[in-house]
Amino acid sequence: MVERIVCGNVNCYIVGKRGSCSLVDTATEKYFDRICRRASELGVKLIVLTHCHYDHVAGAARLADALKVPIAVNSADIPFLFNYEYVRMEADTFTGRAMLWMSRRNIKRRIPAFSPSVELCDKLDLTAFGAEGEAYALPGHTPGSMGVYYDGALIAGDAVSNIFTACRAKSYYDKEAADASYRRITEDERITTIYPGHGRPIYVKRDRPAMIPVNKSDEKAYL
Ligand SMILES: [Zn+2]
Repeated sequence: MVERIVCGNVNCYIVGKRGSCSLVDTATEKYFDRICRRASELGVKLIVLTHCHYDHVAGAARLADALKVPIAVNSADIPFLFNYEYVRMEADTFTGRAMLWMSRRNIKRRIPAFSPSVELCDKLDLTAFGAEGEAYALPGHTPGSMGVYYDGALIAGDAVSNIFTACRAKSYYDKEAADASYRRITEDERITTIYPGHGRPIYVKRDRPAMIPVNKSDEKAYL
């Protein structure tokens, strides 16, 4: 099961089997009720943060408290909790620069403090924490960007964007790393659907030479 919870322009996901699943990203506190209700119904055991940008993690503290579950994150992103300018973000397209400009005020907001207790690293098996799936390193958008792989699905955080078209992270601190992470996803033949941090899921068509992601139309999301 992958359930998308649409929180404004950010997606959170509940991934795994009912009773042994993780909540991937938490959006902001504004969406607390909606996420908390669904996470309780589905039996979330772990909160996984794809990266520590305000719009993805500001709700983490309150949700971890309410659900009584640990928070998993890659430690390379921890400095964002204390210093929003930890790394300088850049973009190479008009849309990317426009989005960066629009998110500048949000990025500067202070993230409510939380204490992560699980260090995410590549291929970390989440069953050890009661949730199905494994961690998937995707550095580039931020130094500690991570995804979650589960049964053909990749929750990609901001390593993949699907705002207008499906593409590599529109903004990044390290373009080469972001390109390499995107390449890793497109070359991983296990992945059939990519779930981005912003925008609709992407179905990966493997019968085309370039493996062009296309919009998946039959997705059910929790709105
Ligand atoms: Zn981000």
